[in-house]
Amino acid sequence: RVPMKLPYVEYEAPTTMAEAVDLLAEHQDEASVLAGGQSLIPLMALRLARPAVLIDINGLSELSLVAVEDGRVTIGAMTREYVAEDSATVGDTVPLLAAALPLIGHEAIRSRGTIGGSLAHADPAAELPAVARALDAEFVVRGRAGERVVPAADWFEGYLATSRRPDEILAEVRFPAAGPGTGVAFLEVARRHGDFAIVGLAVSLTLADGVISDARLAFAGVSDVPVRAAEAEDLLVGQRPSADLFAEAARVATAALDPPADLNGSPEYRKQIAATLVRRGLQAAADNADERQ
Ligand SMILES: Cc1cc2nc3c(=O)[nH]c(=O)nc-3n(C[C@H](O)[C@H](O)[C@H](O)COP(=O)(O)OP(=O)(O)OC[C@H]3O[C@@H](n4cnc5c(N)ncnc54)[C@H](O)[C@@H]3O)c2cc1C
Repeated sequence: RVPMKLPYVEYEAPTTMAEAVDLLAEHQDEASVLAGGQSLIPLMALRLARPAVLIDINGLSELSLVAVEDGRVTIGAMTREYVAEDSATVGDTVPLLAAALPLIGHEAIRSRGTIGGSLAHADPAAELPAVARALDAEFVVRGRAGERVVPAADWFEGYLATSRRPDEILAEVRFPAAGPGTGVAFLEVARRHGDFAIVGLAVSLTLADGVISDARLAFAGVSDVPVRAAEAEDLLVGQRPSADLFAEAARVATAALDPPADLNGSPEYRKQIAATLVRRGLQAAADNADERQ
């Protein structure tokens, strides 16, 4: 039998960041931050997470924001997934994030789930970690010792594991604003609409005078962390988009992948999906890069 009710847990609802950080510093690993609860509460119901204390940060309104300054888009950790999805600012400045958000679960989940929650949870099959990795997002964490900024390359450490320290709260995430000529795509294969992806791919391609000047590819679902396809990116830069080029990029991007086997598919099946997503994702991004010139 699977217990459905939560185990007993102490509950704190700080109203300031300083209070929240003090509570975390006091309880360290014994405490979990509660954001949208869409991952944490099911894990607690299944007894896969057993925090002694929940520190609910839903009262920290300063963590819900979308702001653009100097080519950088700052999104507060408590910004709900559906709020970011509906934001014209996000659509205009971080189109890759806007493309990925509607693929997360269902509307009911996105109405509570938060940008920071997904990135702190760090599920390797989730969409937002791949987006953050593709765009080299920066993670701003606050603890008693002050603020640290962690690049995406150093944030994801393993399955559901990040470099966040036990006394730190993820406060905001900064994305570079997409420049002119940037096209994007987020493609995935899932068993059913709303399920986690078996494999997902975030693509951003920038074209200048018909030549690729910047290429970014990051996979979800092929490892215990989101995976950048750096060799394929290098191969694409300086070239003109073509079906042959994209087929070669797919070969290079997937050659070194060693995806896990599970009920959803074998490593070979995942690699095949990954290669198809690269070809299609690059074509889709190249097509909409033309529209954003
Ligand atoms: C049925 C279902 C389907 C789903 N499908 C998908 C899907 O397809 N793709 C997908 O990406 N996600 C999916 N999700 C998960 C959803 O996106 C969650 O909202 C998200 O993963 C976690 O966000 P949250 O705000 O709910 O975080 P919570 O569940 O509250 O927290 C998740 C973890 O992050 C920590 N945390 C949260 N915020 C912070 C912070 N600011 N600082 C430090 N630590 C923090 C918590 O302590 C906890 O360990 C699904 C969920 C459900 C229930």
